[in-house]
Amino acid sequence: MAQLAGAAVVTIGLLFGTRYIYKRMPKAGSPLFKVGYALYTNTRLGLLYYKNDVRKAYRKYQGEGHSLIEPTVFNGLRILPIAMSLDNYSYLITDERSNISVLVDPSEPNAVQRVLDAERITPTAILCTHKHWDHSGGNREWKRRYDGIRVYGNPVDNVPDHTQDIADNDMLEFGALQFTVYTTPGHTVGHVVFLLEGSPFSAPPCLFSGDHIFLAGAGRMFESTPATMLNSLEKVLQLSDDTLIWPGHEYAEDNLQFACHLEPNNRSAQEKLQLVKDLRKSRKCTSPSTLAEEKTYNPFLRVTEASMMAAVGTDKSDLSADELHAETLQQCRNMKDKFKYKL
Ligand SMILES: [Zn+2]
Repeated sequence: MAQLAGAAVVTIGLLFGTRYIYKRMPKAGSPLFKVGYALYTNTRLGLLYYKNDVRKAYRKYQGEGHSLIEPTVFNGLRILPIAMSLDNYSYLITDERSNISVLVDPSEPNAVQRVLDAERITPTAILCTHKHWDHSGGNREWKRRYDGIRVYGNPVDNVPDHTQDIADNDMLEFGALQFTVYTTPGHTVGHVVFLLEGSPFSAPPCLFSGDHIFLAGAGRMFESTPATMLNSLEKVLQLSDDTLIWPGHEYAEDNLQFACHLEPNNRSAQEKLQLVKDLRKSRKCTSPSTLAEEKTYNPFLRVTEASMMAAVGTDKSDLSADELHAETLQQCRNMKDKFKYKL
């Protein structure tokens, strides 16, 4: 009994420590950070932590989810964001002609299953952007529920319970759904994004960006240098301007507040913030945005702009261009992390 109680205390302590470390973020690289992050990512304690968030969200939103579910439909292509946990999104992508569906990051099986049952859909595959439990935490359960379901993940990231290894530039096909995999190290060492080819549906390309890029934001650089992250952001910048961005979290309002704070004269950021505020009043999903739009207000995609360098104080440095852009990205990240706590 005493042993059990001891184990419970240790588990609660670790959970609390992990939560504290993950949310409050001591300086990346500090010993405290390393311990907490390793616990979160490499052990199933991180999954317990995530499940606790799911319970919290259930109470907070009374089982309704943080956002309303509304599909975006093109010619035979249907994309349905599914609200999970406190602010996560999974995506159900369906080729309506062949009735083939895949899921992106369905980490909360019960929330996603309700949608699948209502729509009478059996998913063919799961595409997992990275190892963090709020993206991968459902994989084991999906394998149990759907015998033979394929779970795609990057082995570099050690995605929990994946069945199919993926690598940069891999093409994945499910009916008329064709995805290209792009590795985007930065948030995690093996983070990937999935680009859905739009042409079979006369639709724009769709980027399922996980925690790499959000509406007006980008993921924290947990496992790479700013130079590596910058490289991964540039990969996205090379996609066509009409690409629709479908991110892994509903962070738009917070991100745009920060964008407006950094660039107070940026009209595009101000207008988008107003639009997003209106959408959130009725709990609407703020995505997708287009890459063209993101280029006008997303600070993390604008580190080569003079206004951004001035905003983060790197404009007078004598670094080489590459170093300067990486340093601007780092300073932007630092400011965003601090800004969040003021809200
Ligand atoms: Zn993540």
